[in-house]
Amino acid sequence: MLTCQECGLAKGRTRVVPGEGPEPAEIMFIGEAPGFQEDRQGRPFVGPAGQFLEELLGLVGLRRDQVYIGNVVKCRPPNNRDPLPTEIAACKHWLDAQIRLVNPQIIVTLGRYSMARWFPGQSISKVHGRPVERDGVLIFPMYHPAAALHQNSLRAAIEEDMRKLPDLLEKVGQKRASAQEPQAAQSQQLSLF
Ligand code: URA
Repeated sequence: MLTCQECGLAKGRTRVVPGEGPEPAEIMFIGEAPGFQEDRQGRPFVGPAGQFLEELLGLVGLRRDQVYIGNVVKCRPPNNRDPLPTEIAACKHWLDAQIRLVNPQIIVTLGRYSMARWFPGQSISKVHGRPVERDGVLIFPMYHPAAALHQNSLRAAIEEDMRKLPDLLEKVGQKRASAQEPQAAQSQQLSLF
């Protein structure tokens, strides 16, 4: 990924921003694209939006090093413009590979571009805060922290959505455990013979 030239963003970037966090991780946050600070440091969410994301994580007792944080596109669009459909398409295989490696129980999408992968054509104001299961993973759409930082009504909404995360995590954990129980019982039985 660090040498990727698959779209025009490669020309303007200082550094590729692959994402960071434990692999596997129970929770994976997916933002939009690197901004100015991220492009300089090669790390996701290290500017003002990142500070706010860390605050939000703190509301539910999480630190950023306990979750995986990535983006839909890995290189900064010029002047922080929105990523183009062609750029998102070119970068998709990197995100697919990351999701496989991180193998999260919950994917939190931050903002429209990340939401659109699972909720194409839908409006974030309608779907935020409503988790949906796709291919065994819970997708939980939230507003982008940068938007929420500047708009007070969104700030309350993103905080409220974040506070749902511990409950969701407990529920998916229980579901995974009970899905594994019959297998565990079966393998115990097999080992008796
Ligand atoms: N906004 C994003 O969507 N991603 C970052 O990494 C930083 C800001």
